[in-house]
Amino acid sequence: MIDSMQKIAPCKWCHKQMPILQHKAHTAVCDMVDTSLPKFRPVKETSQPIPKDIPNRSTFSCPFCGEANLDTNGMVKHCNENHASESSNVVCPICSSMPWGDTSQRSVDFMQHLNLRHKFSYDTYADFSLDDDQMLERALQASLQDV
Ligand SMILES: [Zn+2]
Ligand SMILES: [Zn+2]
Ligand SMILES: [Zn+2]
Repeated sequence: MIDSMQKIAPCKWCHKQMPILQHKAHTAVCDMVDTSLPKFRPVKETSQPIPKDIPNRSTFSCPFCGEANLDTNGMVKHCNENHASESSNVVCPICSSMPWGDTSQRSVDFMQHLNLRHKFSYDTYADFSLDDDQMLERALQASLQDV
């Protein structure tokens, strides 16, 4: 998601391009401002925009025993070591944490799913230079090859 404050837009008076964030400050000094309008009173910026581009490197809890703070690789390792013969239908915590995840969709064979889909890390699998739509498309393609 693009932070609207980071967008470039022209000053409505002099049409100079600048980040929207600077519009208020600029309007106070802009030569072209129509002074017949009520005078603009600059308001001090009270808060910085919260960064929205923090990478989402979540950890997961084991759906079988609840062991927490497992990353994707840790989850695969943990489940193969502890739950290799487990056959309960559980929701894949890795998939359900993805933007396209369906939290109600249970894997028929979670262990098989885990080993097929998550044996490699999403951190290396996901190309973070792709935008969300491309990521989604890739994930959907990958899920079509799922068992
Ligand atoms: Zn201006
Ligand atoms: Zn476990
Ligand atoms: Zn999964």
